Parts: sequence; structure tokens; C-alpha cells
Amino acid sequence: MPRPKVHIIGAGLAGLAAAVRLADGTRDVVVYEAARQAGGRCRSYYEPALDLTIDNGNHLLLSGNYAVRDFLKRIGSEDALEGPKDARFPFVDLATGESWVLHPNAGPFPWWIFVPGRRVPATKASDYLGLLRLLMARNGQRLGEVIACEGLLYERLWQPFFLAVLNTEPKEGSAVLAAAVTRETLMKGAAACRPLVAVKGLTAAFIEPALRYLACQKAEVRFEHRLRALAFADAHVAALEFDETRVGVGTGDAIILAVPAPVAEDLVTGLVVPQSFRAIVNAHFKIAPPPSLPPIQGAINGLTEWLFAYPDRLSVTISGADRLLDVGREELAERIWADVTQLTHIAAPLPAWQIIKEKRATFAATPQEEARRPGPRSNYTNLLLAGDWTATGLPATIEGALRSGNRAADEYLHTR
Ligand SMILES: Cc1cc2nc3c(=O)[nH]c(=O)nc-3n(C[C@H](O)[C@H](O)[C@H](O)COP(=O)(O)OP(=O)(O)OC[C@H]3O[C@@H](n4cnc5c(N)ncnc54)[C@H](O)[C@@H]3O)c2cc1C
Repeated sequence: MPRPKVHIIGAGLAGLAAAVRLADGTRDVVVYEAARQAGGRCRSYYEPALDLTIDNGNHLLLSGNYAVRDFLKRIGSEDALEGPKDARFPFVDLATGESWVLHPNAGPFPWWIFVPGRRVPATKASDYLGLLRLLMARNGQRLGEVIACEGLLYERLWQPFFLAVLNTEPKEGSAVLAAAVTRETLMKGAAACRPLVAVKGLTAAFIEPALRYLACQKAEVRFEHRLRALAFADAHVAALEFDETRVGVGTGDAIILAVPAPVAEDLVTGLVVPQSFRAIVNAHFKIAPPPSLPPIQGAINGLTEWLFAYPDRLSVTISGADRLLDVGREELAERIWADVTQLTHIAAPLPAWQIIKEKRATFAATPQEEARRPGPRSNYTNLLLAGDWTATGLPATIEGALRSGNRAADEYLHTR
């Protein structure tokens, strides 16, 4: 009897998570990746404009992301994420210059909202009760239907937090997805909402260790293998068609399709997937941060939403950034740099910069798109689905992508 084989299509985090879970020596695991490198939307690359290796996008994680923690531990990369020991989120209002630090307490009872120095200035503890309504949100509800999307607390906390979480205008965003993240992070106290960043880069933290792990487990990763079609026979997939090769799928073998939603839709007839996407704009400036600068800082009332201080650069993230796709890169660099000088008190002309516009960074986390996310099973007996766009219960995040890969792997294991 030949050993069973699992074919995993896509070496983004979802595909890598599935491969890492299944590569335990009891079956053959082969990953096929269209690009020359792994990582998909979560990777580092050399940027000539800066002469630096940077990430395709600044990625913020929270310490409550347990699938991230487990994945990094499994691949031997548990120390790769860095962040403050405590959950502190410094904010600056770019319109008024006012600054404050959000400082959730340890433990699940949120007494920090009763302490003026820990909560948003000029808000009252009772303002935060709206969160209870969010936690009871039902499928199909928009965030704007369950919490007050106006006033100081919204402008200074919920708007920036949920925009970052959903990458979608919060008022239009899915209340259920916003609630899921809140439950797993803010509601669990400081231990679950410390901000974490892969300071040495996403590839060094997630991708290279995963590939090393897979090599040790004798799993194969074939780069420059773009799946062009799946050959179906009755209710199963009989073969994988690449540009130059056709790979037969044996009885007892399985496929985990871990490609972006539009690619999956093209490959699998009748598959329903999210249809709309939201952009993220990142700006990178080649300048060392002042030593006192916090690693991550939030900003409101400017273009800049989050400022990341890496040892060799300052980087800005702007979520839900579709409105900026047609704005010239020079203009964006000038305007964002003006925010950065205000946030850092750096008095320097615009340094070497790069603007990265990721047009389809994530699916739009609206109730309509949430309803279009499929589970891990397809209509075909040997075809499973993974990816941040599948129904993970979370918005499109690293945590969601990893969980989707784990879940597809578990489905495979349960049906053997
Ligand atoms: C700019 C930006 C900023 C972000 N910020 C954050 C953040 O702060 N925090 C956070 O948690 N998440 C963030 N995300 C989201 C996170 O990066 C994604 O949710 C995650 O990387 C998705 O992983 P995935 O494996 O589902 O998909 P992908 O990374 O898209 O992987 C799919 C893989 O399939 C490959 N592929 C495509 N077609 C084929 C084919 N036909 N054959 C073979 N291979 C194929 C692709 O090349 C790719 O490698 C951000 C994303 C972006 C773009």
C-alpha cells in the first residue's frame, strides 16, 4: 500500500500551518506554491528604494493569538515576536496634539476602565458598557447597529481598534467578527492584548522556520508550481494540473486548497467566497527611531493610524485604505511623513521612503462577506479548503489563517 499523500496548494500561512500539522512522518506532504518564495501576504522582501529588507505589510499581533503562539512554538520560533511586557497603547491625536496611554489591567475583570489615567481621557467608565452589547451581537449585524459609532470613546478607541482588527470601516463591519476578537483579547485582560511585532521580519519569524521544520519532517515544498486546474471525476479530485505537469491524486490522498479566495473560486466550480476586499497602505521611512519612541503608537485625526518603530526604519499602517489608492505616492509620502514628524518630534526632511499599496489586502469584514465564507469541507470528498477568507470566526488575520490551516488538517485526520 502506498503511503497516503496530502497535496497542499499555497504556501501562505494557512498552507504552511496545514503542512506543519500533517508532516509527522505517517504520510507524504507536498506543498505547491505559485511564487518563488513562501509566505504569501505575510513575508519579507528586499526593497531597493530603502536598501533594506522589509515586510510586505506591517503586521500587528496580540498576545491572545494562541494559534500564532502554538505555531511558532512548533516550528522553534517562539521568541520571534517582540513587544512591551505590559499591554500599553500610546495614542496621539494629530489634530490637537493630545496624547494618552490605554493601559488595560492584568486579569479578565476590566477595572482599568474605572481608572482615569488608564482609559481614554474625557470618557466615563459607563461609556464602556456598550461593549456588553457587542459581545451579544448576532450574525448579520453591523458594528454600527450594536455600539454607538460617535463620540470620544468611539473616535479614540473603538474606531482605531476595530478598523485595525477588521480592515473595514467599523460602522459597516461585522459585529460578530469584532466581538470574537474582543472576546479573545481585550476581555481577557493585559495578558491577551499585549501588542507583538516580528521585529526581525515576518519571513525570519514565520516562514523560514516553518520551511526548516518541513524539511526536517521530509515534507516537500515545490516553488513556482501554480495550480492551473483541478481535474474532477464524479465527487472527487482526480488530478492537479500545473503548467508543465499533471499530478495524479491517488485513492486515499487529499488536497488542501490554501490559495486566496478569488483563486479558489476560479479553481472550484460553484464555490461561494467573499467578493469584496479592502486595501492597506504602508509607508516606510529609512530613518532610525528616537530611542524613547514606543515600538507601536496609535494616531487619530491624521492619515497615519499606527506607527511602528523598527531599528532601521519607521513604518506606518493605514487600514481600509481604498480611498488612497488613487492618491500619488509622492503626495502620500509627504503627507504621512508630516504625521510622523509630529508623532516622533524628528525634525528632518523626508528620508528615503517607499509606499506599498496592497489593494486586496483582506476580504471586507462585513456581515455580507462573512456570510459568504465557506467551512473547510468542499463538495468534493478529497478536497479541503483553508485560508484567512474561510469561515474561521475571525477577520482576515495571521491568527485566522493559521487556524484555518490547522482546521483543514484536523478535518483530514478525522476522516481517515
Ligand atoms: C498589508 C497587509 C497588512 C496586514 N496586516 C496584518 C496584521 O497587522 N495582523 C494580522 O494578523 N494580519 C494582517 N494581515 C493579514 C495576513 O497577512 C493574512 O491574513 C495572512 O497572511 C493570509 O494567509 P493565507 O495563507 O490565508 O493567504 P495568502 O498569504 O494569500 O497565501 C496564499 C498563497 O497561495 C499562493 N497561490 C496563489 N495562487 C496559487 C496557485 N494557483 N497555485 C499555487 N499557489 C498559489 C500565493 O502565492 C500565496 O503564497 C495583513 C495583510 C496585508 C496584505
